[in-house]
Amino acid sequence: MNDRFNEIIENAEKDLFNDFKSIENIALINTEKVLNAFRAHQIALRHFNGTTGYGYDDIGRQKIAEVYADIFGAESAIVSPLIVSGTHALTIMLFSVLRPNDILLSISGKPYDTLQEVISGSGIGSLRDYNIAYDEIMLKDNDFDYEGIKEYFTNNSKVKAVFIGRSRGYEWRNALSVEQIEKVIKFIKSINNDIIVMVDNCYGEFVQTIEPTQVGADIMAGSLNKNPGGGLVNAGGYIAGKSRYVEQATYRLTAPSIGSEVGSYSAGYKSFFQGLFIAPSVVMNAIKASMLFGQVYHNLGYDTMPLPHTQNYDIIRSIKFDTEKELVEFVKAIQYASPIDSHVTPEAWDMPGYESKVIMAAGTFVEGASIELSADSPIREPYIAYLQGALTYEHAKLAVIETLKYLGK
Ligand SMILES: *Cc1c(COP(=O)(O)O)cnc(C)c1O
Repeated sequence: MNDRFNEIIENAEKDLFNDFKSIENIALINTEKVLNAFRAHQIALRHFNGTTGYGYDDIGRQKIAEVYADIFGAESAIVSPLIVSGTHALTIMLFSVLRPNDILLSISGKPYDTLQEVISGSGIGSLRDYNIAYDEIMLKDNDFDYEGIKEYFTNNSKVKAVFIGRSRGYEWRNALSVEQIEKVIKFIKSINNDIIVMVDNCYGEFVQTIEPTQVGADIMAGSLNKNPGGGLVNAGGYIAGKSRYVEQATYRLTAPSIGSEVGSYSAGYKSFFQGLFIAPSVVMNAIKASMLFGQVYHNLGYDTMPLPHTQNYDIIRSIKFDTEKELVEFVKAIQYASPIDSHVTPEAWDMPGYESKVIMAAGTFVEGASIELSADSPIREPYIAYLQGALTYEHAKLAVIETLKYLGK
């Protein structure tokens, strides 16, 4: 390793000593939480077995759901390879709870890009097509706009559910902490206890030691291509929360008459259990990676989010570049530093479900898995790279250096 790059990394690591200690502690607590759930549910090798056909007696399906529910402090959960992605899990969550003439209110600004069409697309079976209205309240100074929320409820009696996006999405903002989410849930329930609080939990799992369903969220959903898959799950999503809402979700996932009684998966569930078991540690590596990139680029004078020495509430690091060219070079460097498809040059493309062209580096073992080191960015001003993931911290170190080379630092 070149001495100059070595020095840059070492300086950043010195700066990060205490931050690393605190994230290691979070990983320890979460590992214990996961281990306790495995023990409580007496997970055994036979729970890995796959089933075929209808899968009536699919014990693995039931057990992985029980373990997730336990870890997330939820009454029940769905964990399934039949959920194709986080977007699908969130879509099931939305459609399972909302009915015609309801209002869905997002209180964390614009939901993630891929949910835009789900909510307000035209003629494609969106919420809007089913006459479910949508409104949003922007965040204010990186927190919920309490006055705005109160005022909205005073004027609208038909709000059925509130939507909260824990992670930042493609916004120049910090992720929300579970403490912030807890406070706003209490506030909303004090206005009207019947309002259903739904959380997009993508990128948030195991970042802190508690999850939204442990602080009053009624239902939440996420992607197994991200944190809780631990990098081992080939595809899937989860939904967790209060039993009555999760049950509704099972009717949307399969059919109202069969719910969670069916669903086979012949490949079996080993990767779901093993991925979950290592997820707290993998998330720690991803956060260390995020911190390292943040510190290095901060030291070089770039704007990064979150700022160094502030707690991470998702695994993403946003880095603001001056030009489109710098952004593209950064993303290319991440691709080149990847174990898979390092020879491929990423190009901006019209990714399904995204509003702008997106450039993405994902040289990953599981296609597009963003718990693995990856970077993506919509090609629009300001030129922000969203970097996330890393199965190992060492990989992140090598990747930082590659980006510095590409940017001519
Ligand atoms: C990734 C992501 C989604 C969608 O998950 P996919 O698995 O990519 O479909 C939704 N919300 C947030 C905040 C995300 O980061």
